[in-house]
Amino acid sequence: MTPVQPTAKAQPLDVKRIREDFPILREQVHGKPLVYLDSTASAQKPRQVIDTLAFVYEHAYANVHRGIHYLSETATQMYEDARRKVARFINARSPREIVYVRNTTEGINLVAYAWGLPNLKPGDEVLITEMEHHSNIVPWQLVCQMTGATLRWVPITPEGFLDMEALDRLLTERTRIFAFTAMSNVLGTINPVKELVARAHAVEALVLVDGAQSVPHLPVDVQDLDCDFLAFSGHKMCGPSGIGVLYGKRELLEAMPPFLGGGEMIRQVKLTGSTWNDLPHKFEAGTPAIAEAIALGAAVDYLSNLGMDNVAAHERALVRYAYERMQDVEGLRILGPGPEHRGGVIAFTLGDVHPHDIAAILDAEGIAIRAGHHCAQPVHDRYGIPASARASFYVYNTEEEVDVLVTALHKVVETFAF
Ligand code: PLP
Repeated sequence: MTPVQPTAKAQPLDVKRIREDFPILREQVHGKPLVYLDSTASAQKPRQVIDTLAFVYEHAYANVHRGIHYLSETATQMYEDARRKVARFINARSPREIVYVRNTTEGINLVAYAWGLPNLKPGDEVLITEMEHHSNIVPWQLVCQMTGATLRWVPITPEGFLDMEALDRLLTERTRIFAFTAMSNVLGTINPVKELVARAHAVEALVLVDGAQSVPHLPVDVQDLDCDFLAFSGHKMCGPSGIGVLYGKRELLEAMPPFLGGGEMIRQVKLTGSTWNDLPHKFEAGTPAIAEAIALGAAVDYLSNLGMDNVAAHERALVRYAYERMQDVEGLRILGPGPEHRGGVIAFTLGDVHPHDIAAILDAEGIAIRAGHHCAQPVHDRYGIPASARASFYVYNTEEEVDVLVTALHKVVETFAF
């Protein structure tokens, strides 16, 4: 595997100043300063995003696309401005290709149902990978059951990479869609998205990229990648929860039937039948998460101002530092590849201490990590473990916090005396 290439233009982040933007980082937990190492699950929010939410509810809230009064027009304008920001952030050709959904999970379900149900049939294959989050497994299982299509998956190598030889065998003219994560939320592995897209297109399969972990942490350009769909969540990229995005190529979205029916997604409703609104509204039934979408625009502004190359470089440096320091902890085993191939996430086991016990001891030190299967049971099965502990990093984390983590991990070793 070629290591992930650092970009020459990256500038160091001013993390001290960034931390001042995140009010929650001033919290004490059990009398200790909070060390938040769980951004892979959900990132914290900067003042700019919190203020935007408050601004909308205090000054600009009304339902969107429905009223002709001032507030409704203001809210609609802000809601659509945010969509344009998201489109620019991932370099979509048009804001019409940006569908607001609740989260990555809903984006993937939208494609599985609205594209999968009418297009899949017995004999067709859907290809996923062994490193997927449950949200990129279960919708495909359900839709394959409904259509008679077969679900296949690309195995992972012992080092935590996709098995590219197996991929050669698995991607065939029977493959109708290849759905994979750009970055594993357990192994941290950054997959070669552009190459995978090209290989899938060579057999005329569509590609859905699960961008839950890539869009918040790496520069993403959908035109360069040429992926057909990309799903991601606002809450993992400094935005609110309850808002996410499905990007889809316009011609594909145009050809798909609606996913959910209701208000706003229609052009005309008669009791005998209905016709559909233009993109992206065809896929946005019912009152959406208005303030949250507008605040997602603020999160996009925030990350764009930092520069995604700089964000990626900061996390790369931090993960390298953490990876090296964690080697000193007796009995600690890191899942997945070396730091040059991963994003800012490190899942690990520590002797035979249960990950929940590790997390509880760390919590007493003010450190927030995640313990469990991280909604990726097949990855854990692959390595013969039921669960792992996971520390993850974002723009506000520092080497000092990694030091606090490592000291606390030594404490876990002492407590369990192995
Ligand atoms: N895909 C990956 C790789 C993830 O890490 C996650 C969340 O952790 C998801 C999908 C699901 O995201 P959400 O719960 O926001 O839908």
